[in-house]
Amino acid sequence: MTETATLNTPSFSTLSLAPELLRALTEAGYTTPTPIQSQAIPVALAGGDVMAGAQTGTGKTAAFALPILQKLLPFANNSTSPAKHPVRALILTPTRELAIQVEESVKAYAKHTQLRSLVVYGGTDIKTQTPPLKAGVEVLVATPGRLLDHIEQKTVQLNQVQMLVLDEADRMLDMGFMPDLKRILALLPKQRQNLMFSATFSNEIKKLADDFLTKPQLIEVARSNATNDNVTQKVYQVAQSDKEALLVQLLKDADAKQVIVFTKTKITASRLSRSLTREGISADAIHGDKTQLERIKALDAFKVGTVMALVATDVAARGLDISELPMVINYEIPSAPEDYVHRIGRTGRAGASGVAISFVCEDEEKYLAEIEKLIKRQITKEVVTLNKPTQNTRHKTSYQPQEEVNTRRAPTKKKSSDPWFDKPYEPTAQGRQVTASTNKSSNSKKAPVAVLLGGLVRK
Ligand code: AMP
Repeated sequence: MTETATLNTPSFSTLSLAPELLRALTEAGYTTPTPIQSQAIPVALAGGDVMAGAQTGTGKTAAFALPILQKLLPFANNSTSPAKHPVRALILTPTRELAIQVEESVKAYAKHTQLRSLVVYGGTDIKTQTPPLKAGVEVLVATPGRLLDHIEQKTVQLNQVQMLVLDEADRMLDMGFMPDLKRILALLPKQRQNLMFSATFSNEIKKLADDFLTKPQLIEVARSNATNDNVTQKVYQVAQSDKEALLVQLLKDADAKQVIVFTKTKITASRLSRSLTREGISADAIHGDKTQLERIKALDAFKVGTVMALVATDVAARGLDISELPMVINYEIPSAPEDYVHRIGRTGRAGASGVAISFVCEDEEKYLAEIEKLIKRQITKEVVTLNKPTQNTRHKTSYQPQEEVNTRRAPTKKKSSDPWFDKPYEPTAQGRQVTASTNKSSNSKKAPVAVLLGGLVRK
């Protein structure tokens, strides 16, 4: 691999992009390229392979979509003949949600061109994808498995592919797509440009890059395996049995209009979403057992704000692009540390600030240690002790701060019928200072729960 690019371009107009693309960017409200865009676009336009270390939320989609569209512009035509619209760019993504979002972006950037794009993914009737595929598209976004189905059914030809993107390559490997990738890559013309994007740089990723890229330019917008600096990260050390009550209170008191809550399993995601709904919090679950239609419906409801809490498993949430998501809660922290980087990449996107809170019980400490090792930083830890509710009143627990550190928002405290629940929170240790900054301390501190709940930082 060659050295890291250091280009820094202040505006899209200096990137030599075609007027029809610039117009689409202006209409999308983009004024300045993000660092990954200003670094990757010139390299990709010059025809070189790219190995980019960019996590989701950095604007990586436009970083590969714009050069693709620009390079395919000479082939744009309005012919009705499928032969005039062969697949020239193939974008592979690990999940259908990411595939859908990537293709939406491609369409938005290509809106003033005659280039066609299409997305194909599993979980839906393959027959519905065949007619538009057969009609011909220049840019095809696909998940590997479904693409192979189309290849087998001979509904797609890849012999004209001149540009290949492996998006979220690390995730593709995590999800076991390596054999599929190898089969697909073997069907592509040898002479082509490759752009690979990955949030993390594991040894496997480096090997994949060595195998499939030709003298790639290495572009890193953030340290490998780094987490976004815009995201305030916190760990709440809490007993497993208290997690649900803490979550309910956190969601009721938080200013966050949209929160993604991550769980490790589909069962927990479903159960939690039902519990939240019972508590009057609009919630829905998104995981692999949901049909594609249910997933899209839940995501749309979340995007328009009718659902406040989207409870998701890692696979389902992969690549979700929800603008201005202020908060991510790890109800359970992932056992694979890379997933933590991906999860918290849902917030703090494109320069916005965000908060990522992880509920960590004793059994999960080992995973936390792995995460801190990967991101090479310590996450601020705060011990949370809840006033234990009596039977059947689990979620009616009230939290009262002993001192109000955050003055921006006072906690809303409901009067309960039993005065025991209105008792002030009684801390058990001396540490009271809640630090809003990240990564400063690994020392456990006891913090008043309501302070934690009101501690949402926004710019
Ligand atoms: P991505 O990392 O590609 O998923 O992009 C994250 C979010 O940033 C998406 O909502 C994009 O629409 C948005 N975005 C990408 N590039 C820019 C830009 N240059 N200016 C403003 N927003 C952008």
